[in-house]
Amino acid sequence: MTMLKAITFDLDDTLWDNHGVMARTEEGHYRWLLEALEAWRAARQEPDLALTQEAGGLDYLQRRQQLAKQVPERRGDFTWLRLRALEAQLEAAGLPRSAALLWAAAAMNEFHRLRVQVTPHPEAAGLLAALTERYQLAAITNGNIHLARQPLAAYFPVAIAAGELLAPKPDPTPFLTALSRLNVTPECAMHVGDSWQEDVLPAQQLGMHAVWISQTGDQALPPRVHRIAHIKELPSVLEMLESQGLERHHSGGV
Ligand SMILES: [Mg+2]
Repeated sequence: MTMLKAITFDLDDTLWDNHGVMARTEEGHYRWLLEALEAWRAARQEPDLALTQEAGGLDYLQRRQQLAKQVPERRGDFTWLRLRALEAQLEAAGLPRSAALLWAAAAMNEFHRLRVQVTPHPEAAGLLAALTERYQLAAITNGNIHLARQPLAAYFPVAIAAGELLAPKPDPTPFLTALSRLNVTPECAMHVGDSWQEDVLPAQQLGMHAVWISQTGDQALPPRVHRIAHIKELPSVLEMLESQGLERHHSGGV
């Protein structure tokens, strides 16, 4: 007997390290855009746009930050912010609006092609495969990775892009959406993630169990929260919870 029916997972820095792929994606899609634009304009005998990887990349970042302030409800919808920022930048650099829209969209295609090239922790697929035998699984991410194209997509019949819901974690909405789609109550569910603020606290406050992936952290943990250093330690937490559930079951005489 177990009380736990469902487990929801954060993705970035929980099932894979995100730092390298994000840096390659950031750099790579913008470089692709500048090179493709240069070739396109050269073929049409048009001069280069005055955009460089470094200055243009900084301007692109500042445009996104500005836009997130101007349209706060979109602050977590990173794909939208990037598209609008690129469109505005290309138009400001002299492209006609129609071409700016097409090139911004093409750059974001390249962004997503690079963004899904994450390398899951070697234990992740086997772990998820074993968990699907006992639990319903869902993914809840604030990131803008393409959820159907990421390498562990097959394990997550329910996958929530919280930023695109306009309710990034720690907003409870993505958790409640996942629970409702899994048809489980919070106390029968667990969330696993690396962020104290965005994963652990909101899940715990909703009444879910929570597993915090963190190398460090000596503070006393609130009820229903457990800390592990790596996703591969999750089975031991689940075993412990299930054995406690059994003990409570027996001592309660139910
Ligand atoms: Mg994370």
